[in-house]
Amino acid sequence: MKGDRRGGRLKLDLHTHCKEAVAFQRPDDRIATIIASQIRARGLDGIAVTEHNEAEYGFSLKELMVRHHPDLLIIPGQERRWGLDHVVELFLPDGVVFRFIAHPGNLWGARDLSPEDGIHGIEIANGQQFVHEARVREFARVNDLLLLSNSDAHVVGDIGCNYSMVDLAEFSARARRGLPGAVGVVTL
Ligand SMILES: [Zn+2]
Ligand SMILES: [Zn+2]
Repeated sequence: MKGDRRGGRLKLDLHTHCKEAVAFQRPDDRIATIIASQIRARGLDGIAVTEHNEAEYGFSLKELMVRHHPDLLIIPGQERRWGLDHVVELFLPDGVVFRFIAHPGNLWGARDLSPEDGIHGIEIANGQQFVHEARVREFARVNDLLLLSNSDAHVVGDIGCNYSMVDLAEFSARARRGLPGAVGVVTL
């Protein structure tokens, strides 16, 4: 799997609603092939599957993709409410959770983040909603967040319209920082 590459960056869209994109159909071989074709058409290494308040869809789709399209990386995740904003959680190997603020819109009255917030990144671009780039850049600088560009696709054709070049080892290392017994070196 491409996710096993070491040291290289992967071209990933880390915020997609595949379930909504296929009209809420259960994941099966046909659905996996539709999603895989779109990922390949965009020239991506993979995507995160981040349904609203539901991790299960991403894990199911990942299982199918591992079996039928092992060249593509699927990261299971979910999108949740976080105050007035939305946060996407990515479930990385070894129980590590990487969190980023999605389509930041109402962030600007917010206090600075603390480590207890467990936020590691923020979208600088979202395929569906306007993002104030300058403000996000400043907020990310002050709070030491990774900047991400994602599609937030709700239809298949939008998957991969935005993407980020991602070093997953760096994601894991950042997400582990606040965890008890965390180590700085992570092997994916
Ligand atoms: Zn959202
Ligand atoms: Zn979303």
